[in-house]
Amino acid sequence: MTQKLTGTVALITGASSGIGRATALELARHGASVTLVARREDRLTALVTEIENEGGTALAVPTDISDRAQAEAAIATTVDHFGHLDIVVNNAGLMILGLAADADVDDWDRMIAINQQGLLYITKAALPHLQAAAAGSRQVADLVNISSVAGRTTFPTAGAYSLTKYGVNGFTEALRQELAASHVRVGVLEPGKVDTELDSHNNEEILANIEANFGGFTMLDPQDIADGIAFMVTRPAHAAIAEMWVMPTEQS
Ligand code: NDP
Repeated sequence: MTQKLTGTVALITGASSGIGRATALELARHGASVTLVARREDRLTALVTEIENEGGTALAVPTDISDRAQAEAAIATTVDHFGHLDIVVNNAGLMILGLAADADVDDWDRMIAINQQGLLYITKAALPHLQAAAAGSRQVADLVNISSVAGRTTFPTAGAYSLTKYGVNGFTEALRQELAASHVRVGVLEPGKVDTELDSHNNEEILANIEANFGGFTMLDPQDIADGIAFMVTRPAHAAIAEMWVMPTEQS
């Protein structure tokens, strides 16, 4: 593997499972020092050991990103520890599906708090550091937001989740335009169905629907998305991937 990210520092939210975990491992393999952000400390600590055993460098920073002070502290802790911040992957997310008429409004609040507010808190706190990094020798810094195919299209039961992901797409494109001149690349990656823990917060009826809709084909592996993120952040400084849509081959 090429070490295109040697000397860089990357922070990944939602690193305790699924896409975030795979991304942390992949960016570390490319030479980045990685900060691992999520709530489950035991998972993060185990991942630090796994990355170190592969010869990489990692720091666990247990954080609830929906708490603004904790999100800001995660960025500050990273910069205190490593000295700078070159790459942020806003990946942490929650998906609870259901018909709007039947929904628990608390579930909507939690999705907005994690998928949107947490992403905003992390981004806002990281921006000065990304801009400083982009002015340094690498001449570029990266912010990658993980949206979803549900940020491009939607279906019954996905309304509130789609609301959060359409919002991520809009915020990402505005920020891309605002930061283009300062060499902070801002891009969005929209996965189709990936085999992770994301479905696990749903009730039995929704899980049965998911199985009926997505059980008939081979899902993406988290590594497929990690590969896409690694591609985005290892382009030459003059080339930015503004959007990447990665689908299972058979998902229509
Ligand atoms: P997982 O459920 O496996 O991972 C979600 C991650 O988010 C976990 O690490 C979880 O860690 C973290 N997280 C949740 N809430 C918080 C919080 N308040 N503070 C910090 N971290 C939090 O799912 P995926 O890997 O699939 O999801 C990653 C992203 O990919 C999400 O944004 C999701 O919407 C998106 N996506 C996933 C698809 C799929 O099919 N799997 C398809 C399209 C998009 P912890 O619980 O330890 O805090």
